[in-house]
Amino acid sequence: PAPGTPLLSVRNALKQFGGLKAVNDVSFDLHAGEILGLIGPNGAGKSTMFNLVTGVNPATSGQITFGGKEIGQADAGTIHRLGMARTFQHVHLLPDLTLLENTMMGGYARAKAGLFQSMLHLERAEEAALQHEALKQLERVGLGDQAFELAGNLALGQQRILEVARALVADPTLLLLDEPAAGLRYGEKQELSALLKRLRDEGVTILIVEHDMDLVMNLVDRLVVMNYGQKLAEGTPAEIRQNKDVREAYLGV
Ligand code: ADP
Ligand code: MG
Repeated sequence: PAPGTPLLSVRNALKQFGGLKAVNDVSFDLHAGEILGLIGPNGAGKSTMFNLVTGVNPATSGQITFGGKEIGQADAGTIHRLGMARTFQHVHLLPDLTLLENTMMGGYARAKAGLFQSMLHLERAEEAALQHEALKQLERVGLGDQAFELAGNLALGQQRILEVARALVADPTLLLLDEPAAGLRYGEKQELSALLKRLRDEGVTILIVEHDMDLVMNLVDRLVVMNYGQKLAEGTPAEIRQNKDVREAYLGV
């Protein structure tokens, strides 16, 4: 893509469920190297937007480009292989496997054959390379010492960080996080926030859906605010705090 091209560009995205426009004519850009927050009240269309971008659901109409490639109708596996990785709103870990094994899953998922087939058929050399990469990512997020412990024994805050490590194994250029701080204690939120800022500084671009306004306002470079499927506002945290429509619709002040 030409210099200055957004990493992700959403143009007039529409997603209809029957008569409901869950995402209604939304456009925004995400530039390489930034953290963009997607916020809005319950039912605003944030998760639907996330699913359009990651290929879980195709858009009814509109264009979505990632690294200059049109992905509006591409499937989730194709989009993942293009360099997009996500975490889910609810913890998706295998509690009886080690941190290392859970992290390696992020690499199997990138293989064309699909998760379980890949686990069975990976060559020894590939397996070793993946293990090496998984350890590297666990160390990167600060969980290297616990690589051989069971994921189920971790506190929730560490499980969320483990999910980030698993996403990083695919070496994504864009990391999407769906409410990563939900249910975390204050200290755990601080730790997660510091990690995400560090990853941004290391070159990972991040799109985050998050309800915790304190965390979001102190973490992101820019925000897109949705309400009733539409984009209500877009700007820096300082601009969004001052925005009259946002204060009325969302912050309730
Ligand atoms: P948010 O994540 O902002 O809370 P969602 O994207 O989950 O909002 O939902 C937006 C609207 O779309 C809601 O009214 C929701 O009920 C509806 N919706 C979401 N997914 C579906 C679906 N698969 N089928 C029908 N309606 C849906
Ligand atoms: Mg949601």
